[in-house]
Amino acid sequence: MNDNFVYRYGDNLYINLTNKCCNNCDFCIRNNGDGIGDSGNLWLSREPEASEVISLIDSFADYDEIVFCGYGEPTYKTEIMVEVAAYAHSKGKKTRLNTNGLGNLINGRDIVPELKTAIDVMSISLNSHTKEGYDAVCHSVFGLDAFDEMLNFTKECVAEGIETVVSVVAVEGVDIEACRVLASGTGAKLKVREYIA
Ligand code: SF4
Repeated sequence: MNDNFVYRYGDNLYINLTNKCCNNCDFCIRNNGDGIGDSGNLWLSREPEASEVISLIDSFADYDEIVFCGYGEPTYKTEIMVEVAAYAHSKGKKTRLNTNGLGNLINGRDIVPELKTAIDVMSISLNSHTKEGYDAVCHSVFGLDAFDEMLNFTKECVAEGIETVVSVVAVEGVDIEACRVLASGTGAKLKVREYIA
């Protein structure tokens, strides 16, 4: 089986480091199929080393940015992500991390100082304006603590000067205006995403 560690989506290269995730979101794209666009199957038989990812990046001729994204939560592989991001920067490319914002809990340490130089744009899933609402759709193994931890991670990224965006998926029951107020309080921008069926 050929694992799809790196794939093109739009003008960017997406990096698929792991299938692990501490959440089980109702709207997770993983519930609907094995990939996105022309990615191929994003379920992995193993996790890659940084050197493998870097070699694969070099096999793509032209792309805009490097995006660390699913099929899983990339902060499970923080060290590898930081190494790959440094390589992307050495090639003059910007980096983005799509994350659930629970990386400090996942790693048992504060990872924001490591991400500060590695990640140019932090995109964090906000998903709700309350911890109960978050728990109802994200079903995190961290329970009701997950929501506050995600908000703290967001505020820390903003404080460290990382361009930080929080996102909500426009599904029934999500109060977009309340999310906008909450996002504003963290200093992050809000992005409303459409549900991808
Ligand atoms: S945090 Fe992301 S990868 Fe994890 S279940 Fe939710 S949408 Fe899927």
